[in-house]
Amino acid sequence: MSPRVESIHSDERLPAEADVVIVGGGILGSTAAYFLAKRGLSVALLEKGHVACEQSSRNWGWCRQQNRDRRELPLSVLSMRLWDELTRDINRDLGFRRCGLVYATHDEAVLAGWERWREVAREYEVGTRILSRAEVAERVPEARDKWVGGSYSERDGKAEPALAAPAIADGARALGATIHQECAARALDLANGKIAGVHTEKGYIRTSAVLCAAGAWSSRFLRPLGIRFPHPMNRSS
Ligand SMILES: Cc1cc2nc3c(=O)[nH]c(=O)nc-3n(C[C@H](O)[C@H](O)[C@H](O)COP(=O)(O)OP(=O)(O)OC[C@H]3O[C@@H](n4cnc5c(N)ncnc54)[C@H](O)[C@@H]3O)c2cc1C
Repeated sequence: MSPRVESIHSDERLPAEADVVIVGGGILGSTAAYFLAKRGLSVALLEKGHVACEQSSRNWGWCRQQNRDRRELPLSVLSMRLWDELTRDINRDLGFRRCGLVYATHDEAVLAGWERWREVAREYEVGTRILSRAEVAERVPEARDKWVGGSYSERDGKAEPALAAPAIADGARALGATIHQECAARALDLANGKIAGVHTEKGYIRTSAVLCAAGAWSSRFLRPLGIRFPHPMNRSS
């Protein structure tokens, strides 16, 4: 059974207006709310269910740099720094631990790819090292006879999916953002080609800026506006 997702308080009343309205209370919406509120903007975060009720609480929880595509590295190096800072600044346990990550493989070709990746690691100063067959067998005793080797990154780790987004959304709330759960955004109100507000199931919020962080629902939310947002499950959307 998956761990219970941390529940947080909602704000009962919708604000009449906000500098930014965020649609979706997953890790993206919650973190955006936090950093926008920190900049002094008024923010209303809308979540149709509960914060982190979808993909943000249903993942492995890894926070890693090791073996990433070179193009992802600048962002993942920054994100590891932000995990440290968020834990300190919000002063809540996000379950973030730099516990180190081990990759193990049965495939010589995969291991050779990890060896080549060390060049990327050096470029971005990501600490990683190749593990021998015996070292992997010691760390991952399951299927120990088949491992041909592995790689280990000491500074990578994990955060707790059931805690992280709710704690960050609460951190945004402490900075003045309002959080509205069980409150779906239904449509954007456009006037002269610009955003004038958001219709929600609990009322209307005036705003000139909307951040769509609706996860798998984003393409559906944006389609009526003529914005094509590809979804991996639906290539035609
Ligand atoms: C701690 C952590 C570790 C992770 N580790 C891994 C990993 O090891 N491997 C991996 O592959 N990925 C990992 N991920 C990433 C994860 O799998 C997802 O990619 C990520 O959480 C998606 O976040 P999101 O905010 O975009 O979407 P979601 O979490 O899906 O949030 C979108 C939210 O929008 C809401 N919403 C939708 N439509 C509306 C609407 N109209 N009005 C209001 N609300 C609406 C939904 O209810 C939902 O809560 C991790 C994420 C976290 C938080």
